[in-house]
Order: sequence, then structure tokens, then C-alpha cells
Amino acid sequence: MDIKKVVVIGSGTMGSGIAAQVANAGIPVYLLDISSEISKNACDRIKKSRPPLLMNENFSELIYPGNIKDDLDQINDSDWIVEAVVERIDIKRSIYKTIDARRKSTALVSSNTSSIPLKVLSEEMSEEMKKVFCITHFFNPVRYMRLLELVITPKNDRKKIDELKIFCDKKLGKTVVICNDSPGFLGNRVGVYAMQVAMIEAFNLNLSIEEADAIFGRPMGIPKTGVFGLYDLIGIDLMADVLKSFIKELPSDDPFHKIGKELPLIKKLIEDGYTGRKGKGGFFRINKENNKKILESLNYKNYTYKESNKIDLSLPDLMDIDHLLNRDDIYAKYAWNIIKKTILYAAALVPNVTENFNDIDDAMRCGFNWQKGPFEILYEIGINNFLNKLDPTDTIPPFIDALNTNKTSLFLAEKNKLHYYDISKGLVPIKRPDGIISLADKKKISKPLYSNNSISLWEFNEKSHFICAEFHTKANALDQRSAEGLLRAYDLCENKFDGIIIANDGMQFSAGVNLNVFLDMAINKKWKEIDTFLNQFQQACIQLRLASFPVIAAPSGLAIGGGFEVVAQTDYVAAHSNSVLGLVEPLVGLIPAGGGCKEMLRRWSKDAKAKEDPFYASMKVFNILGYALTTDSPIKSKAQKFLNEQDFMVMSRDRLIAEADNKMKSILSNYTAPKEMIINLPGSEVMPSMLAILENLFETNKIKEHGMIVGKKLGFMLSGGDTDTSKQLSENQLLDLEREVFLELIEMPLTQERIKHTLETGKPLFN
Ligand code: NAD
Repeated sequence: MDIKKVVVIGSGTMGSGIAAQVANAGIPVYLLDISSEISKNACDRIKKSRPPLLMNENFSELIYPGNIKDDLDQINDSDWIVEAVVERIDIKRSIYKTIDARRKSTALVSSNTSSIPLKVLSEEMSEEMKKVFCITHFFNPVRYMRLLELVITPKNDRKKIDELKIFCDKKLGKTVVICNDSPGFLGNRVGVYAMQVAMIEAFNLNLSIEEADAIFGRPMGIPKTGVFGLYDLIGIDLMADVLKSFIKELPSDDPFHKIGKELPLIKKLIEDGYTGRKGKGGFFRINKENNKKILESLNYKNYTYKESNKIDLSLPDLMDIDHLLNRDDIYAKYAWNIIKKTILYAAALVPNVTENFNDIDDAMRCGFNWQKGPFEILYEIGINNFLNKLDPTDTIPPFIDALNTNKTSLFLAEKNKLHYYDISKGLVPIKRPDGIISLADKKKISKPLYSNNSISLWEFNEKSHFICAEFHTKANALDQRSAEGLLRAYDLCENKFDGIIIANDGMQFSAGVNLNVFLDMAINKKWKEIDTFLNQFQQACIQLRLASFPVIAAPSGLAIGGGFEVVAQTDYVAAHSNSVLGLVEPLVGLIPAGGGCKEMLRRWSKDAKAKEDPFYASMKVFNILGYALTTDSPIKSKAQKFLNEQDFMVMSRDRLIAEADNKMKSILSNYTAPKEMIINLPGSEVMPSMLAILENLFETNKIKEHGMIVGKKLGFMLSGGDTDTSKQLSENQLLDLEREVFLELIEMPLTQERIKHTLETGKPLFN
């Protein structure tokens, strides 16, 4: 059955998020609440949400606000009805009665509850409805969080539920994990446990909240909000409610009881209105005294706030469990205590709560944005190492015991396929839904064709035989080694592989060229080195663009600056629905010089309007680059020509590489290498129009002197250089011009100051 119409009941945080994602899939959705006013307000909130819940503003037309009195008829012909009202069983049950009286027999019904068991929700339900009723537990914000826990029971009609699973995976882009009806399902059960342990261990070891967040963050492969930052983000009061529900639902011997009790500090914070970011603050707060915003942190020992300092614990920027555990200090102890307890707790859930431990890893990666799940961390540590480090008093769960007794690994390669250890069946091949190619799986069992600190190249033999080029630095910032790796991929690919797919597992495809590299070289006046690096990066990208084999980029997250320049010079882009594309170099006083200017000129000069108006392409690109425009969905990206018409959107992050592979296969037989283009440029005659824009920005205080200089240099570049009349330049000639202008800009002390400021604060310097 196709899902063609959806009703969401409850238009709060989750209901509006779900409705927006259904609209993003192009499906009409009725959003009903107690009153139409509430649901209309929700629609307004959806339109204004940041980051946007909608992939394009006009998708809001697919969301119809209504109320649960006048608009109940919408249920009658709906294919899926989602309940997302307040967490109250009486209200939820009465809604199910209303739904049951109206739904068509084939319609699916689900609840978004996070804490009420399915058996309790369905207690008063008709047997017929029980067959199609399940929990669809989305995470907030729905568009951006990948995990969807689908909680089912043996009473369900599995065929129907599988239809919903496929819909949520392919159309809504979710990583669907099937869960049993047990408290907190998988994500919250393990994630909230780990957060509580991280908080309590920090208190036990007397760590400041900044110290704790610095460790339970990037070095452990966890988002940089850490534990206390995340507490504030979720809401300290909401977390307290979640803990209460765990305590109520879990059996008395569950280790959760030891760490889940309400602490006096938490009670006091809630009583005083310090419920987190939505309240007066929490573990952190913003002090707005004297017209200044100062970030303060809580000293939990004496309940006072002080200015929060960035601390340097000499920790790695990237996840490095080995480094953390092998330090001889209190931070290693802290990290170990959290890792140990989380792994032991997660392992104790196998097989009773879930038979497949991979589901816990998926839940932690997709629901909590951990880089690796607890079992992947255990795999990295090694079972023996892990057991040797345990205390005699630690209880070893049967799953870990079985791994040890059978002397088996969690993951093994057999016949080139990833297998995992199942406690009742032994080693079994990992099952991913059809159409999913996982780089993470590949990395567990094979060695790369080539690797350096910034990039690895992996061989895949799927529908096509391709090299996957994976960036893997912090935020996947690009440097000399990334360029070397791309050039190496080109050499390896010729005649031996069908093509190259550039993709990775990171949160960001690439946040651009590493500005630290440029700043270092600029401070040391190494202009020749900058030119050499730029040239190498440009050549890596243009070689791929003109290659005799197809190259496909599959970005997700940020693909900006240099990251975009890589994407833009491929044949096709399989763009994840949440990818952010654009060229942001002017924000630090530079221009794109990895082919970004020439690529945007090439694209806009093919526009029909450019044939009539010789200034059109240059002016268009001048505006796009000058304002450092970025687009946050492939639909918007196409409008700015950050994506070409033949590029395509993929809703599911998990399906990106497989979709790129499908495309590769489909174009192989007719593939011809693109030719270097000659581009028409208007010469300096276009400059007065550009200057008029700059002067207006200057007069209205949107740019300052340096911004004016950068704008003029950008104009010089986009007009085609120093010439009065129009001219034609090849792509390579435009690349030379990009480097020339870039070097002139980076030599300026003010540009270096702007780069430094951005690196230190994460914000551009207005200049
Ligand atoms: P919310 O408080 O933001 O919104 C609840 C909405 O339900 C409100 O708009 C309210 O007016 C409406 N409502 C109340 N009674 C109603 C009725 N009889 N008919 C129609 N609408 C009614 O809540 P939320 O955070 O969106 O949570 C909704 C559900 O999702 C809850 O079951 C919650 O446990 C679950 N959940 C929440 C989150 C989260 O992060 N907020 C995450 C996962 C699951």
C-alpha cells in the first residue's frame, strides 16, 4: 500500500516535526490539535523554524491545519494516522477510540510516545486495530535526527508494519530500528543511561562541568555539547521526567536504579527555574549584565555561577578511545568509567531486549549522534583488553561472557561479507535493508586501497566497481593530504575501476579547506607554498571533472567552501536531503580558489538569460558569492545552481552510496569524458554594476573597508580579470586567475586577522 495521505494528531514539537517531514516527502498531511488556532500556530512555527524543518518554503502548502472536532473526517481516507499528543495515557486512549471508529481497515496507526509501553497504549483497543498499531518513536528535530524506533508486538500484522518501515526509510529518510516493547526502547535506554553515568561520575571525580563536557564529547565520538550541555539542551525538567518513567517501568534489579534517582542538585535547579536553555539557564547560563552576553557555568559544589573558560586538556580533536584510556590521569579514569558502564549496560540488554546488538549501535549513532555505538567501541578496545581492565566487582553480562568463552570477535569478515556474533546463532551475516551500502561496515572488515591522515580510498564491488574516497579529518576539513588522496584515487581508477564515489560517514561532508593550514602559511609568508597547495587542490578537482570515468559526490551535512568545490566538479551529485551547499570564503575575506568561482561562472553562463545579457552570469555569481550564500536542501541548491539539473536528492543518509552506485551503473556504458569549457566573460564593463552594489552595502554599513576590497577583487575575478572588453577564458585560465586573486587577498594582514578571528570564535569578523 502506498501512503498517500497522513493525519498527525497533536501539533506540538514532535507532531509538527513529523508533519513537516511528511510534507518534505511530497505527501499531504493534516495536522490536528485541540483547536485550529493551535495547529495554525504550529504551521507558522514550522515555517519559521531554524534550522528549517521544511526543505522548501512552499512545502508548507502540503500541511493542512485543523482540529479534532471539525476535521475528524480526514481520518477516514488516511493511510497513516500518527498520534503525537501530550504524554497522557487517558488522552491518548480516547484519541485511539476516535481513530478506530473512523479509520479505513488498511490504515496504519502509530503513537510517538517515548515512555508509555505499547501494551499499555493498546490495552483498550480493538483486536483489529492492534494489528496495525505500533509506536513510531521519532527524535527531535525530526528532519535532522536519523533514528526512528519502530516498536512492534507479536500481535502486529508484520506485512503492514513492514510497509510502514519501508515508507519511513525511503520516503522519510529514517534509519528504522525495530524494537521490542521495553522501557525506553533502545536509544533512550542506553543514551539516557550513558548521560546519567557521565553526570554522576563527573560529580564523583570532582570534575568541573567544562572538564566533563570536554571528555564526554569529541574525544569519545560524542557531539561537543557533552553531557551537561546536552542536559541543558534537552531540558533538565524533561530529563527528570524521563528518569522517573524509567524508574517506574524498569525491574528493580536493573542497574538504571543505581544512577537514575533524582539528585538534590537537579531538584533545586528545577525548583529555581534553571531548567536549561529554555529556562533561566542550567549547567550553563548566559549572563546579560552590562549589555554583554557572558557564558557562565555552574560550580555544582557551591551552587554559584562563574564565567565559563575554554579549557585545554590536550585531548585529541577526533575520536580517540585509545588515547583517552591510556592517559595516566583522572580524565582517563572518567572516560573509562563511562565507557565501561555503558558497554556493560548495553551488553546486558542482549538478547532479552534486543537480539541484535547492532541495533543498539545504530540507535546511538542515529539517535544521539555518537560516532560509534558501545559495541563498536568494545570492538575497538578488544574483548580481552576490556575484560582485563574490569574490576573484580563488575558483573559481566552473559553476552560478553559468551564472546569471551567462544573466543570470538563481535565482527568478522567471511567471504568478504561482514558477519557479527549472535549469542544464539553464532556468526551470522549482517543484514542491511536492500539498497544500503555501508561504509562503516566495509571499514570493519577490510583495509583501504590507500590512506593518509585526511583521506582513505576503499574498494567496492557492488552494481559497479568503484573507489569510495572518504575524507576523515575534523569536520572533514581539507588539506594537502586530501588533495593527494584525490589525485591518488584518479591514478588508481584509470582502467581498473568503473569510477569514483566521494562519500563519508561524518556529520559533515566537508566544512572546506582547513583555514589553519592557510593561516600558518600566511603568517610565515610562504606564498609559494600557498600557490602550490591551491594548484594541487585545483588540479585534483578538475582532473576528476574531466576524467574519462564517472565521478559522483554523495554529500550529507556541510559541503561548503572547498568541500563544495570538490562536489561541484563531479559528474553527478547524490545529495542527501539535509546537505548544506555553498561558497563562504568571502566571510573570511577570501574568494573561492579551488574552482568555485570558475564552476559557478561555467554553470550560470549556460543559463538562457546569459545568452541575452553578457553581464548576467558574472552578476549572478557576484551576488551569490558576495553574500556567501548557502542552501540547506537540494531543492534550494538547484535554484542557485549549486546543484545541476541532473543531480538528485536522496532522503535517506543510509542510501546515499547505494544511490550513487546505481547512478554509476546506469551511466557507465554511455559515459564520455566532459570537455574543458571556454567561458565568456564581460571584462571590466561589468564593474560599475558591481561597484554600485558594494557602495550601497558600504553606505548601509553592511560591509567595511576590507569588505569593499574583497568585493572589488571578487568582481575583478568574475569579470575575467583586467580587460576592458569581453573575453573568453578556459577553465584552467580561470583557475589561474582564482589563485592570483586569492594570493593578493591572503597577503593582506586584515584578511589574516579575519581568518584568525573565525578560527578562534567560530564567527566571521565584520570588516
Ligand atoms: P508537546 O507538548 O510539544 O505537544 C503536544 C501537543 O498535543 C500540544 O500541541 C497539545 O495541544 C496537543 N494535544 C493535547 N491534547 C490533545 C488532544 N486531545 N487532541 C489533540 N491534540 C492534543 O509534546 P511533544 O514534545 O510534541 O510530545 C508529543 C509526544 O511525543 C509525547 O508522547 C512525547 O512523549 C513524545 N516524544 C517527545 C519527544 C521530544 O523531544 N519532545 C521526543 C520523542 C517523543
